[in-house]
Amino acid sequence: MRCPRCQHEDTRVLDTRMPEPQTVKRRRQCSSCGFRFSTVERPVREEISVLKRSGKVEEFDRQKISTSVQCALKKGNRRREEVEALVEVILQNLFKEKSKCLSSEKIGEEVLRCLQRFDKLAYVRYLSVHRTFADLEEFQRQIGEGHGDTI
Ligand SMILES: [Zn+2]
Repeated sequence: MRCPRCQHEDTRVLDTRMPEPQTVKRRRQCSSCGFRFSTVERPVREEISVLKRSGKVEEFDRQKISTSVQCALKKGNRRREEVEALVEVILQNLFKEKSKCLSSEKIGEEVLRCLQRFDKLAYVRYLSVHRTFADLEEFQRQIGEGHGDTI
């Protein structure tokens, strides 16, 4: 990290804090001119958005993927770190796309692909849930378009 005052390349970290779980704040000091400044680190990838089948765009939520994977694995029999590692692989594959917007289908497919190799039973469970949600979204979309007046 260059010094914002003298552009010297070597700055020393004085202290590191985590004001939020996803944020790291460092106080730095330039080793040349002694200027003090702070830097903030946040995961940029959380800025990715998700395009739902309904056409709605939502903020990407890692927790949602984590929860649905945990749900498919029915907890208990898997260690937390194991599940988190799987979620991490799913996310890395998704973020390889470098696209700022992912469709919910694409996310679902990636989760399925990873689950299939990890746990066959969880794969089947996720598949059934994912299908149901997809159908529900489709249903809601049709209602939204005015086909709901027959109900
Ligand atoms: Zn400096």
